[in-house]
Amino acid sequence: MSRARVAGMAALVLAALTAAAHAQEPPQFATTKVEGTENVYIFRYVRHQSMFIVTPQGVIATDPIGLRRPAAKAYIEEIRKITKAPIKYVIYSHSHFDHIAGGQPFKDLGAVLVAHRNAKARIVALQRPDVVVPDQVVDRKRTITLGGTTLELIYVGKNHSDSTLVMRLPKERIIFTVDWIPLQTVPFRGMADTYLPDIEDSLKTVIAMEWDRLIPGHPGPDGRQIGTKEDARAALAYLQDLSAAVKKAADDHKCLADATREIKLPKYENWTNYSQYLPMNIERFCDFHSLGI
Ligand SMILES: [Zn+2]
Repeated sequence: MSRARVAGMAALVLAALTAAAHAQEPPQFATTKVEGTENVYIFRYVRHQSMFIVTPQGVIATDPIGLRRPAAKAYIEEIRKITKAPIKYVIYSHSHFDHIAGGQPFKDLGAVLVAHRNAKARIVALQRPDVVVPDQVVDRKRTITLGGTTLELIYVGKNHSDSTLVMRLPKERIIFTVDWIPLQTVPFRGMADTYLPDIEDSLKTVIAMEWDRLIPGHPGPDGRQIGTKEDARAALAYLQDLSAAVKKAADDHKCLADATREIKLPKYENWTNYSQYLPMNIERFCDFHSLGI
């Protein structure tokens, strides 16, 4: 076989493999109606997701998830396939830009943007052109009622940020809250902006609230988009187990190198990102237990 022919065949095989890989990937974005509800939806764009609620009087949307990508345009088009009612609100889950950037198309349609007071302060301080400053703020709690649907915006304290809202639909017994109650997933990298040990108190508060299903800001393993209280209890148990293991290592003067090498949490080894992020999570807790930071 000539060299050119071998190269040509190799190119064909590569093209076929690439096509097969693409065929297995989920579409870039998708909208799913939450089973058992009349009007609660999840909009997913790549690996981020937001909840939205459709009522006869208008739509309550959440995070635009549009950092450096046209997610908000797709998000609005998806809403428009379901209803022509106006988009009345966009609620930011917390201050992190990968979730809240890109809200301008919503603002242009007349939506009122709402966030926790601390999120607004952060957004104003950082002045990014692609992050729209909220029109209204929440302190401890606010209830939005629209077209027969009630949505509570609740601040339970510091956790993955100092501006996280728990959005609760009391009738549907669903909460939407982002980045700190992951589904069988080890927390991102070194848990930036996470408050220790406050996050454990926040988790206990949320677990004690009335709800059955949790919509997080990212799908879990196998694309699972909705969790339960078991996921929240597991997230708390992970942090408690990790904290206890690192505390012991810190007491034995093993922070950081020995602790990072020796600490294993086999109970969670099947979670997404276990090998990748556990060492960075250990570093975060070493800083807390051995340096007090
Ligand atoms: Zn975040």
